[in-house]
This record gives sequence, structure tokens and C-alpha cells, in this order.
Amino acid sequence: MYKPTAPARVTPTLVKQYSYCPLIPWIQAWFCAYEPTTDSMALGKESTKPPEGRGQVYVSTVRGAAVIDELVEEGGCRVIVERKAYRSHNYSRYVEQAVASYLVAREKIPGIRRVRLEVQGRQSTIELSGDLVEDVESLVKVLEKALKSEKPPPAKPDPKKCTSCWYKRYCPHN
Ligand code: SF4
Repeated sequence: MYKPTAPARVTPTLVKQYSYCPLIPWIQAWFCAYEPTTDSMALGKESTKPPEGRGQVYVSTVRGAAVIDELVEEGGCRVIVERKAYRSHNYSRYVEQAVASYLVAREKIPGIRRVRLEVQGRQSTIELSGDLVEDVESLVKVLEKALKSEKPPPAKPDPKKCTSCWYKRYCPHN
């Protein structure tokens, strides 16, 4: 078993991956293994870039690091924009990723009140309610603990996911 090369810092992408399958961020941390960028990933990244003249925002704190697709001012407050090139059956993981960006960003950027998801151009705006933020904070804590443990986190293998999963070569369930 490899040891992690660096202390695991939670990123919003890890939160999204954990919601997809808890083993993926754990494999990344313990095996230093990362799926190579595929053509569809590269296309997706390109298509979700901010409009010309506007840029992504990189925030790093002791808690973690986040790349925010865009931060806009609206109605006297700030809104985190998270763009996705592809729809997902599990939309909530996109919400969790955007809220995790907020958890990192709020330490340095005041006034963020909402997150906006743009999935294949369709927008939905979500208020950062106390319950939603607390739920994602709990998820982040579970993820932080899982990344530090030598024992893989529990996961339910699902043939629909596992068959095409790049991480299955490292996966204790396969
Ligand atoms: S093979 Fe299945 S259980 Fe293993 S990491 Fe991939 S999705 Fe998760």
C-alpha cells in the first residue's frame, strides 16, 4: 500500500467524485492514481470556460482549494457559477460540488449567498440555506476522514458504473 504523498486537502471536485463513488478519491489519495484526461473531458472543460473577458477564480485556504468557474455580482451579493458540459443522473453531486466551493471560498470572499449551476446551458440557482450548507459540511468531514484512513471507505459496486470505471484496476471491490 502506498502512503499519500501529501496531506489530503479536500477540493470540490473530490466531493463530487466521493458522491459518485467514495472509493475514487480514496484511490487517488492512496495510490496517487488519476484518470488521464479523455477527449470528452477536454471538450467539456473547453465548453465550460467563462465568456471572453471573464475568468475563473482560484481560492486556496487551510481548508482546501477550489477553482470557481465564475463569481458574479447580483442583487448586492455574490453568486458562485458552476458550469457542466454533461448532465448527470446524480444531479445532487453537482450541487454538493458547488456548495463545497462556497465552503472554501467563504473564508476569503465575503457576501456569497447563492450558487448557480449551468448544465448544458440550463441554469438553476440555489440559495445557500443553513441546512444545505450543514449537509455538505458533514459530507466534507466524512470525506476528510476517509482520505486519511488506510482502510477503503465502504462503497456499493454498481455494474453500471464499475464496468467503465478507469479506477477499477485499483479498486478493492473489483
Ligand atoms: S470500480 Fe466501481 S466501486 Fe470501484 S472505484 Fe470504480 S465505480 Fe467505485
